[in-house]
Amino acid sequence: MISCADFMAAIGDYLEGDVAAEVRAQLEAHLSHCSTCQVVYDSARKTITVLTDSGSFDLLESASKPITEKIMARIRSHERHS
Ligand SMILES: [Zn+2]
Repeated sequence: MISCADFMAAIGDYLEGDVAAEVRAQLEAHLSHCSTCQVVYDSARKTITVLTDSGSFDLLESASKPITEKIMARIRSHERHS
């Protein structure tokens, strides 16, 4: 079973479809029972969809890492406060 940290580390590759089948299965299994990662995944996917629809693939590439880092920072601060 993977952790939220593992999921966050792999979400960029997962969103790009750049993961092995067994890794994808683990990520999807985690996603199916973790509401925190569902929220993160949904917002990251929507953000990337907006960037993709705008046709800015260069922007997508340069933005995907900072987005993941911002989301992770939010998760970390959430964990600190709870
Ligand atoms: Zn999680």
